[in-house]
This record gives sequence, structure tokens and C-alpha cells, in this order.
Amino acid sequence: MTQLTDLDGVGEKTASRLAAMGADSARDLLFILPKAYQDRTNPQPILTLNPGPFATVRGQVLSVSERRYRSRRVLEAMITDGRGVLVLKWFRFGKWLKKNIENRFPPGTEALASGRVNSFGGQVEMHHPDLNRASDDGGGGVVPEYSVTEGLSQQLMRKVVGTAVKRCLGEVKETIPGDILRKYGLPDLPESLAALHQPPPNADVESLNEGTTRWHNRLKFGELIIFQLGLLTRRRELDSRAAPVINGDGSLEGPFLHDLPFNLTGAQERSLDEIRSDLAAGTPMHRLLQGDVGSGKTLVAFLAMLRAAESGHQSVLMVPTEVLAGQHYRTFSKWCEKLGLEAVLLTGSTDTEGRRRAVYGARTGEIKLFIGTHALIQEGVEFNDLALAVVDEQHRFGVLQRLTLREKGKSPHFLVMTATPIPRSLTMVIYGDLDISTIDELPPGRKAVETVVYRERDRSRMHLRVSREVGKGGQVYIVYPLVEESEKVELLAANEMARDYRERIFPHLKIGLLTGRMTPREKEAVMSRFHQGTDQVLVSTTVIEVGVDVPNATLMVIEHAERFGLFQLHQLRGRVGRGSASAMCILMEGPGTSEEARKRLQVMVSTNSGFDIADADLRIRGPGDFLGSRQSGMPDLRYAHPLRDGDIMVQARQAANEMIAQGEIPEFLHNKVGKFWLGNSHITSSG
Ligand code: ADP
Ligand code: MG
Repeated sequence: MTQLTDLDGVGEKTASRLAAMGADSARDLLFILPKAYQDRTNPQPILTLNPGPFATVRGQVLSVSERRYRSRRVLEAMITDGRGVLVLKWFRFGKWLKKNIENRFPPGTEALASGRVNSFGGQVEMHHPDLNRASDDGGGGVVPEYSVTEGLSQQLMRKVVGTAVKRCLGEVKETIPGDILRKYGLPDLPESLAALHQPPPNADVESLNEGTTRWHNRLKFGELIIFQLGLLTRRRELDSRAAPVINGDGSLEGPFLHDLPFNLTGAQERSLDEIRSDLAAGTPMHRLLQGDVGSGKTLVAFLAMLRAAESGHQSVLMVPTEVLAGQHYRTFSKWCEKLGLEAVLLTGSTDTEGRRRAVYGARTGEIKLFIGTHALIQEGVEFNDLALAVVDEQHRFGVLQRLTLREKGKSPHFLVMTATPIPRSLTMVIYGDLDISTIDELPPGRKAVETVVYRERDRSRMHLRVSREVGKGGQVYIVYPLVEESEKVELLAANEMARDYRERIFPHLKIGLLTGRMTPREKEAVMSRFHQGTDQVLVSTTVIEVGVDVPNATLMVIEHAERFGLFQLHQLRGRVGRGSASAMCILMEGPGTSEEARKRLQVMVSTNSGFDIADADLRIRGPGDFLGSRQSGMPDLRYAHPLRDGDIMVQARQAANEMIAQGEIPEFLHNKVGKFWLGNSHITSSG
């Protein structure tokens, strides 16, 4: 293998700078792609520049100087192409860069500047552009530009990578079988790398800068295939295990459905059918049940658990919060009562007696249905025959917890429920090893929750709405955001607000207060008062956010709605409008709300669809934030973008399937795939 220092012009110092960029050998350099490309043959006139895209400009240097804006040092250069003047700015610069620019670009030098075009005070600028003398690097053509560390010039980087391409291309092995590449119309790896570092003169600069050339696609495809192979091999391994065959005889389901005051929706039926056939298949189910808030996932889960019970097996429903566990437990107990079935609740705050009963029932197999938090998977809880595990709102659970739960049984069936609707391509990234059922239909009679934005000056109107709603027999949530850094202050504010409501604003109403600081027992008591209708108003911090179900609640007021993420708002709003009465959501917008936050609130006003909202959220925030990257199992992808490259993801999935079917997984890929699943989720085509 060629060492970095084997390359012309690379000494120890440069080698260590290259190593800092992630290259341990000369070959690694090939996998560090240019961040942009300059079109030197066709520079753009300065007067035609628009903010946004990447551009290359050619002109004479007018001046280079260091300036101060307030306390900020800025290195500034001006160039002109005879008609327009462009300002170049460096906000971060050391002595080295300053000297380099001053020395190499005295006034009058013919120079090429390229970078993203910004605008400032109505003028176009480039920040941290790449600046070259027109006489360097032989002039024309499409020239790559790298993200270099301080002390490493573009010129040197280009030269070094150029040499590496010449010397090491032969060390690059193609990772994908030729017939697959041909089928998907992709160039091979060496060709792609060569073209990305040294684009042919007729290359389309725009697609190079967008990262959408076929050469880029080859690299993306390569890393996505490894990712999909990982998911698929893991899935195959799981599928090779034996799981309890659950056929169910309908002895519980029959009477239950008979007594249920409504019919299942078509989407519920369909999902249930899919689950039933999984349960009977003899291999473990790994299914994601996705559906908007209020679409009736809980009922589907319960029916699956009933089926397990009919066959004499145990099942658990695991949820992220105690409040939610308590609520599901109440629902399940009510449903179970008539069936002569016992369900138990196990959370961190279950009392000794209750815990003993649950642990005993689990071990002996006497109890079939368990509901709880991660207390269910703690040590000391052993199941006689755990056959089905349902995990609700799994985006709050780590993958590890899912694994622990698996170990509690002999390859139990798995049902993961989520109310986070995501695009298909992203589903493939995050839940690539799961089958998917979607409840895309709400129970009949649900009306959209009318949503309005109120400002501070509308507060009395909000109070009026609350009184009126309670007057009509409805119940009201008032949610207050709790920001972590200032938790104490906010908590005070929530407490104060509750007191204010009780004593001053609504002295005639019964008002409960729910905060994260309360003990689970206290929370439970507050929730059950609200559930039973004893309290008419519930003032709460966001602890109610997931899954709480009080059908009589008809009005949701969200204080400082601008502080919540879109999806959180949607989940909160989903707490109302669950009964037959029409419901409303008031978003209180605090002073000084940003333009972006306003946009979020308007999305809420304009739609009730979780899918539309997730889409907007995804666009506003990007997929990383949207899913809370690590926890959700989002891999670090070096070349592909999980959203923009959805099409390539679908192809990679298909290709991975084909490779597995043909038994064509190369040895070295096994290695990488294995490493990936050992928790090293950083996959690249290079290493
Ligand atoms: P999710 O968990 O998907 O957010 P839930 O399971 O909490 O939704 O269901 C919301 C409400 O809708 C519950 O009160 C539930 O009893 C009710 N529900 C579920 N399925 C139906 C149906 N097919 N018809 C009418 N109401 C339903
Ligand atoms: Mg739910």
C-alpha cells in the first residue's frame, strides 16, 4: 500500500495534516471527495451572481486588507472583472492564510475565486472562497476544490491527490459485482473516483457541485448497499430462528370484538391480518405498526396480545413513560375484565406487593398480559413464556433496549408502534430490518381539530374559550413547555400559572396540575382525576405528550407554542378530538417568535395530517434533528443523503436483495457489514 509520504511533495508535516483529514494512506485520499468544482473555462460575470449557488469568477485583485467589524477581524479582498466588483471575506483566518493571500495576490493579479455566493447589505460576497492565480494549475477546465485544513493549500492538495489518483487507482478494489453495476447503469469505482478528482473537461459542473453525477451515485450506491446488506443479513439471521407459532382460536378475540362498541377500521383490519399471519409463521415477527396519533394502534396491539393469550403465551406492552403505562393499563384492564383475563402493570414505582405479583406471574406464566415501562426488562423479571413484545412509541427507545427485551424470551415476536410517519426511503434507513404495516385511516367520525394561533393580546379570548368549553361539558388541557436549561424557573411558572388559574381566572373550575417533578404516584392520581372528569382542566408540562387518551377532552391550549417542534405540537394536538365532539387547539404564540417558528405554527393551522406535518418538519429541520440521529439508529453516511437519495436507497435495497439471493456477498463486505452491526455505524467505501 502506498504511504502518504511516498507521494511527491508530501513530507511528515503534510502527511500529518492529511491524516487529520482522515487519510491514513495515499489510497484513502481518493475517498475524500472535493467539496466543490470550479468551472474555469466559463467564469461567471460578477454582475450576474445571485446568492445561493456555487460560482466561479475571474477578475483582477483590487485590494487585500484586514478589517474590523465591531470586535470581529475580517480578512477582505476585492476583485473586479471590469464591470462588477466582488468582495471576498474570511472570518476565520490565521497568520498563515493572511500572509499567503497578501503575498500571492498583490493588486493587479489575475485571479479566480470560487465559492458559494452570499449576500450582505444588498451586495454579493463570497465567504471563505477558494482563491487561485489564473496562472496556476494550467488555467482552464473543471477544477476540484477540497476542504483543506489550515496550512494545506488547494494547490498542494490538488497536486497530491492528482498523484494519488495516478499511483493508487490500481489499489482500489471494486466492491460491487459487475452485473449489478451494469444492471443499475453505474460506472465502476476506480473510474468514478478518477472522474470525481479529475473531471473530464466536458463534465457538467452543476451536477458535480450538486453531487448528482453518476460517479457520485456510484459512491452513494456503494455505501447504501453495505448498509442494506447489513440490515438484510441481520434480518435473515433473525428469520432463521424459531418463534412460537401463535394461531389463536378466537376464544378471547371473538367475545371482545362482539362487545366492542365500534368496528375496526379497514386499515386496522389489514394491519391485524398482517400481524396474525406473522404470528403464525413460526419465525419471529419484526413488524413496525405506524399510524397517525389517534389511529387506533393500541387496539391493534391489544388484539395481537389477546391472540397470544389464546394460545397460552405471555406478552408485554412496553411504553416510554409511567403515565402512559398507567393509562394503557387502565384501558387494558377494562377490556380484560369481561374476558376473565388479568393484566398487570409494572413500572419503576409499582409498590412491593404489586411488583411481587407481577414478577411471580411472569415467572410462573400465571399472568399473560404485562404492561409497563422499561422496568419490564430489568433484572429479576423473568418470563415463563414470553412470545410477543409490543413496544410503543419506539423512537424513544434505544435499539439496545429492544435487544434486551428480545433476550427475555426465546425469540419473541416483535411489534413496534410509532406515530412518527416518515417517508418510505427514510423508513428503509431506520426500520430497514422491519416489515411495515400502516394504519392510514382514522376511525370514522373524527373531525379535524380546528387550530388557531393567538397572541398575548388574545389571552382573554382564550380564557373565554376555556370557560365555554367546560360549560359545554368538555375538558381542557393547558400545556406549558418546560425548557431543560431553565427547568426550575419554568416549573415555577407552570406552578404559578396553575395557581393563577385556580384562584383568579377560573375560581369556579376544578383544575389539576401535572409536572415532570411529581412522583409517578402523584402523576397517576392527577391523571386519573382528569380521566374520570373530576378535574375539568389539566395544566401540564409536556409529560402528557405521548399517547394519553381522554376522549372527553375537547380543547388543547399550548402556551409558548413557538418553543415546540412541529411533531411535538402534532402529538399534543392529537390528545384532543378523540371523542365524537368537535375539538379545538389554541396555539399561544409568545412575544419575539422567530419567522421560522411562525412558519411551524402555520403548518399546524393548515393541516391535521401527521404525514404532511412530518414532511414539513423534515424539510424545516433536516433528517438528523428530526429523528434525533443516533438514538433512532440513523447511520452516518458519508456520501448519501437519507432523504435526497431515496431513489438510490430503493435501488440499493433491491440490489442487496439480489446479491443475497445469488449468494454473492464478497468476503470483505462480510467484514464491513459485521463491523457495522457491532455498533460501528460509520460505514464508508474506503475502509
Ligand atoms: P393511537 O395509539 O394510534 O394514537 P389509540 O389506540 O389511542 O390511538 O386510539 C384512539 C382512540 O380511538 C381510542 O379511544 C380508541 O378506543 C379509539 N378507537 C380505536 N379504534 C377505533 C375504531 N375502529 N373506531 C372508533 N374508535 C376507535
Ligand atoms: Mg398510542
